Amino acid sequence: MSEMPSLPDVEVQPPAYAGPSREAVHADRRSHLSPHIGHMYREPLMLVSGHGQYVYDETGRRYLDAFGGVLTTSIGHANPRLLSAMAEQAGRIMHTSMHYLNPTVSAYARELAARFPDPLDTVILFNSGSEANDMAIMAARLFTGNYDVIGLRNAFHGTLSGIVPLIAHQSWRYPLPADPGISRAGWIYAYRGPWAHDEPGAGEHYAEQIATHIAEATPGRIAAFLAETIQGVGGVVEPPPGFLSAAATHVRQAGGLYIADEVQTGFGRTGDAYWGFEAHGVTPDIVTMAKGIGNGFPIGALVTRREIAEVLGQKMTYNTYGGSPLACAAGLAVLEEIDAASMVDNARACGARLLERLDNLAEKQALIGDIRGRGLMIGVELVRDRTTKEPARAETDRALEALREMGCLVGRAGFAGNVLRITPPMCATLEDMDFIADCLEVALATASEGA
Ligand code: PMP
Repeated sequence: MSEMPSLPDVEVQPPAYAGPSREAVHADRRSHLSPHIGHMYREPLMLVSGHGQYVYDETGRRYLDAFGGVLTTSIGHANPRLLSAMAEQAGRIMHTSMHYLNPTVSAYARELAARFPDPLDTVILFNSGSEANDMAIMAARLFTGNYDVIGLRNAFHGTLSGIVPLIAHQSWRYPLPADPGISRAGWIYAYRGPWAHDEPGAGEHYAEQIATHIAEATPGRIAAFLAETIQGVGGVVEPPPGFLSAAATHVRQAGGLYIADEVQTGFGRTGDAYWGFEAHGVTPDIVTMAKGIGNGFPIGALVTRREIAEVLGQKMTYNTYGGSPLACAAGLAVLEEIDAASMVDNARACGARLLERLDNLAEKQALIGDIRGRGLMIGVELVRDRTTKEPARAETDRALEALREMGCLVGRAGFAGNVLRITPPMCATLEDMDFIADCLEVALATASEGA
């Protein structure tokens, strides 16, 4: 490419920023926020406004938010339907989700449940994905009468102390004693595993690890198997076809439940259906979700069948804000917008375009070791050598910086920090996909040339 890629034109102007300087904001953050809160990029980026799939820094510079879709903004920044629904609800009543009836809360539970296949018909609302996963484990333990939970290697499920032991990344786990009831088994990372993703029988082979682990490590004690439908933080790693249904069968035969973590893959992101698991021919016992569910407003949810939720009804479980009227107003607007703007179809079309462009790029760019994912959840794994698959960590750093320079914000993932995570809001366009691919072409050329 001879010219630098330019962002697709937009008519919207960002509101002028008149707040404190980036340096002052950074200094306050360093002084007053806990040191575990990091930031991306050598020079931290400050975002002060957003519109649709774009965000703006304090100088008014525009960036394509090709990461934020999986963090928060499923339907795009400053979505008018969401803003008016939230303003209307905030002006009417903001209250707890407990104790009293509220029409918005009931309507949200009804609408969310309506988007699940039978027999998943009962909703529990929280403030975050971590809370939803924590409660899913508690529900599974109470329902089955067993205690042990197994997750997958390379997984991420949140940061509450009850679920942190399921996290694979050393960088996310504090040095605390192991929880005897939680183990991680099963490696589904086909790019680095014994069976290739599309190899016939690969899913069933990988699922055998679960059966063996249950027999050896948790005999007669399995309460649940918890798995992301596509591992996000782990590097956009999708279970091979057949894995999830075979693993669920092993777990159920041993008396446990299958919990699907759809925190990143839910709400149409994979472009196949509303929920990622629908492409795998299996219906989980419990599904958890968060992030894009409220498009930036904190809300998490668990959907299960009534008999499982009923075990929780034996006691009172109180969550002051989980699924408050305001959160539910946001959640309802997200569902309506996904449907009204056919965002699942858009995610599919955009993902297909991007994958095609990336496949072409891989023919001439040797840094690309693997391209994975579906819809608007795409990962590009960078390696120094396609045979040894040595992770290209420093090159990934350089690529991320170069992409930012061009106005394209993507994420980083993977146990070696060498996967580019491309997850824009579901209102992104085919032009945006071309922009991402054009930027990647330049950024990967820059990255492979060295610092
Ligand atoms: N599950 C998955 C798959 C996630 O990616 C995350 C967050 N990265 C969580 C659960 C936790 O969600 P939250 O940050 O809302 O607690």
